[in-house]
Amino acid sequence: MNDVAAIERDMVDAAKKAEATVINSTFHHFSPYGVSGVVVIQESHLAIHTWPEYGYAAVDVFTCGEMNAWIAFDYLKESFQAKSYSAIEMKRGSVNLLTRNDFDISTMRQKANEWVNPGFYTRNVWFTDKDENQALSLRFTGDVFYDHQSPFQRVRILESYKYGKMLALDDMVMTTENDEFHYHEMISHPAMFMHPNPKNVLVIGGGDGGTIREVLRHKGVEKVTMVEIDGAVIEACKEHLPQIASSFNDPKLTLLVDDGIAFIKNAAPGTYDVILVDGSDPVGPAEGLFSVSFYQNCYNALKSDGVLVAQGESPKFNEKAFCELNYTLQDIFGRDKAPVSLFFVPTYPTGMWSFQYGLKGDIDAIKHLDNSSIDAFVQSEGLRYYNSALHTGSFALPNFVKSLLLK
Ligand code: SAM
Repeated sequence: MNDVAAIERDMVDAAKKAEATVINSTFHHFSPYGVSGVVVIQESHLAIHTWPEYGYAAVDVFTCGEMNAWIAFDYLKESFQAKSYSAIEMKRGSVNLLTRNDFDISTMRQKANEWVNPGFYTRNVWFTDKDENQALSLRFTGDVFYDHQSPFQRVRILESYKYGKMLALDDMVMTTENDEFHYHEMISHPAMFMHPNPKNVLVIGGGDGGTIREVLRHKGVEKVTMVEIDGAVIEACKEHLPQIASSFNDPKLTLLVDDGIAFIKNAAPGTYDVILVDGSDPVGPAEGLFSVSFYQNCYNALKSDGVLVAQGESPKFNEKAFCELNYTLQDIFGRDKAPVSLFFVPTYPTGMWSFQYGLKGDIDAIKHLDNSSIDAFVQSEGLRYYNSALHTGSFALPNFVKSLLLK
């Protein structure tokens, strides 16, 4: 009763079962749960509102002409696996109580006659990533390519009209075909260029494969270890987002399906040059990826001149997590060794997102950069977001963000 895509599909199929002509469908998912939707048919409409918390749905099937509404109702009983149901049939609009207006039907009929059933209908099914006060909604085709409830989260691959196929974990947008490069280039290249010679790299999370794809562009890298907790994410992306999940067969990669929090706890001190924490939001399996002990273990696992970069939430979405993560990094790495870079991801709520750093030894975010070799790399790799000027620019923070990060 909370699955907007399945409900839209079943409501449209119910109309078709009753041989109605579907004109369009509009369905919306509400916060924190519940779905409302309408299927407009030539014979009138079907409407639904759900109360998942009660396992209850109220459906209206409005018809005119020969269409048998009960066929649609019986279909919905099956597809919604209703354990109990009640129904009222109400005849509406008795002709003998109505006065017919005389107007030139020919013009109307003409219009009606001109109408050709396009054989398709516009679907307005909206996927919404939100918190209690703000949301980002993407219209998607209603098609669900992958839908699996793993032990950790619900893994879905949906297709949005504007951003192409997208990976959603529970109700959060993780990555989309059309803007993934914003995120994957900015989580990897600044960190890789901050370090003088990164050879041994650890990626925690990153199940879509975009981060390892970018890290493996750096020819000097000898070993990449990726620790992703949920094998279903990898499987879904390999099958449905191959251009993102394109490096899983790279010989330099060691892929572990395991909890990154436990992995880093047991990691040998001083092992990695660069650690990239490409985790989801601080809920469910990723909650611990925002903990003090996790980052203390990351600090220990880094070599004396090491770089840590982490998905840092947004100063305008999950502000609390954004600030607390940086305070933790300041405490562990040092007040001036926890810089923040901001960048844009159109499909994340607010579009303004961050990566947060922990720098060990002489590493600095921008001081020792060789901009000409960076831009030569950008050119040769055909990068579409990252470049040397943006590297430096992304660490120039707006004043309100600077004050947020003052402990
Ligand atoms: N770009 C996304 C974002 O900003 O939210 C992150 C994408 S990536 C798909 C996030 C990955 O972190 C998911 O595949 C999730 O399964 C993984 N993950 C979450 N908690 C984890 C943990 N404790 N250990 C390893 N991987 C974890």
